[in-house]
Amino acid sequence: MSAIRIDGNVLAEKVRGRIATDVAALKARGITPGLAVILLGDSPASQVYVRNKVAACGKVGMHSVLHKLPAETTETELLALINSLNVDPTIHGILVQLPLPKHIHEKQVLEAVAANKDVDGFHAENVGALMIGEPRFVSCTPAGCMEMLKDIGMADLRGKHAVVVGRSNIVGKPMAMLLLHANATVTICHSGTADLAAMCRQADILVAAVGKPRFITADMVKPGAVVIDVGINRLPESEGGKLVGDVDFGAVNEVAGYLTPVPGGVGPMTITMLLQNTLTAANRQ
Ligand code: NDP
Repeated sequence: MSAIRIDGNVLAEKVRGRIATDVAALKARGITPGLAVILLGDSPASQVYVRNKVAACGKVGMHSVLHKLPAETTETELLALINSLNVDPTIHGILVQLPLPKHIHEKQVLEAVAANKDVDGFHAENVGALMIGEPRFVSCTPAGCMEMLKDIGMADLRGKHAVVVGRSNIVGKPMAMLLLHANATVTICHSGTADLAAMCRQADILVAAVGKPRFITADMVKPGAVVIDVGINRLPESEGGKLVGDVDFGAVNEVAGYLTPVPGGVGPMTITMLLQNTLTAANRQ
């Protein structure tokens, strides 16, 4: 039997409807939630991401400003822009699109964003708050994955084993922390994990955030498991050039109980959580 598909587009639409209602209520009180997006350079993938984020803001009635800067912008110039946005009362959320050009210190830039406007949840203060179980702004991708679990009736994961493949600061680690707070028993795997397949096969919930096309194969999945595919990988033109996830969708579809597609899975939920965080920021400010 094929897995039940967790449709990120459908869920995103539902959550964005609620956000739009809340935005309208805030606007009636004279506050328009505002997001500033900063993009350095002209990476085609980043341009698509920021365009989607800005468009999503407009659709729920939020104000957004896109600051497109040349790749050679200095760190001092970038920090000056962030500082001005930190004190701009029309801007409630600030997002610096990653990756940044090599001459810029990512950590310094992420720490420069005021913690109460850090809608990406990358500031150390927000990461720490998540760690101690008092989340303020949570990284959007893992937050979106948790919404997907809630939507299939898995808000409380007591007794479940969750395995996260990947330990990045923006996906793997916050994902593991959220699963832990939802009472799952959590294993984090990475490139140094021995017998990854055996680890993955123990998972009732398997989250793949590796960045390798079709890396999770059917033999790595426990029958009936919930599989969340965070990966977004562009195949080379010689293989069709299409977007695929970290999960071998066709084969895993025959083993898993639930599965997220790529595209149309975690991606739309990530943007939705960005909108949610911006709304929360506006409410708090
Ligand atoms: P990173 O490259 O920062 O992290 C990848 C992780 O995978 C690392 O922790 C790495 O381990 C681990 N890994 C790599 N190779 C293996 C292996 N052979 N076995 C086990 N673990 C391995 O990626 P991100 O976390 O930023 O992103 C992961 C994927 O998710 C990418 O495809 C990215 O495009 C996508 N993504 C999607 C988003 C969305 O909205 N859907 C948002 C953000 C990311 P180690 O630490 O040991 O090197």
